[in-house]
Amino acid sequence: MTKQPIISVKNLVKKYGDFTAVNDISFDVYEGEIFGLLGPNGAGKTTTLEVIETLRDKTSGEVMVNGFSVDKNPDAIKKCIGVQLQAAGYYPNLNLSELIVLFSGLYGIKKTPKEMLEKVALVEKSKAKYKDLSGGQKQRFSIATTLINDPKIIFLDEPTTGLDPQARRNLWDLIREIRERGTTVVITTHYMDEAEVLCDRVAFVDGGRIVGIDSPDAFIDKLVASGFERKKEVKSANLEDVFINLTGKEWREE
Ligand code: ATP
Repeated sequence: MTKQPIISVKNLVKKYGDFTAVNDISFDVYEGEIFGLLGPNGAGKTTTLEVIETLRDKTSGEVMVNGFSVDKNPDAIKKCIGVQLQAAGYYPNLNLSELIVLFSGLYGIKKTPKEMLEKVALVEKSKAKYKDLSGGQKQRFSIATTLINDPKIIFLDEPTTGLDPQARRNLWDLIREIRERGTTVVITTHYMDEAEVLCDRVAFVDGGRIVGIDSPDAFIDKLVASGFERKKEVKSANLEDVFINLTGKEWREE
């Protein structure tokens, strides 16, 4: 089966005044994959995502999402994507159930809080306010809100930043489950270990350009085949393993 691009970005350029934040970027995202945009702060990842999400105008280039052009059909694109909102977007005094009802209403879609909260293992927190959730629960809730309109693609911008190792792993499992149900996932992250275990393919972005795009395994194999060797011998465990070992099972109640 040939892979179908569900997102196609061609020669995307975004300038803020004289500054070129995205400098002639081209890539495809295939249907059903977890695709990672990796790179340092200021590389242009968020700007690229925002153009694809139809939230930001581009300077030039062509972007197609699920067969629709960001120029000609932004409303059709909005209907088939889910975008993770920043925490500040939530009403502080509503509980999770009420927030789901609110968002469903905004989309004009009937979804019960239970069915949405079940998807992210937060049914027990349905009466809790967003501000009282742990960091991992907040991220899971915001992912639930991206799923209300049954999107074909969801966009997650650094969803695990600031989470502890177990909460990160919980979130990876959740993201994999969402992909198993058929949703394409586009994610940005600074964590290379995360990209290595989670993403089917990654694009490295630096200074507004893509400097490499491939699967994590292919990147690593190519580097090793080129004669690269790590200076230090690799330890058979790391501090994160120690942390998880000391604090108990990987899955814990947050
Ligand atoms: P981070 O990992 O920090 O989120 P990023 O790769 O997502 O970084 P962008 O947020 O896309 O990077 O920013 C790319 C560059 O464009 C940065 O140098 C940033 O300062 C600049 N930039 C972003 N938004 C604007 C704006 N509205 N006006 C001017 N410059 C901007």
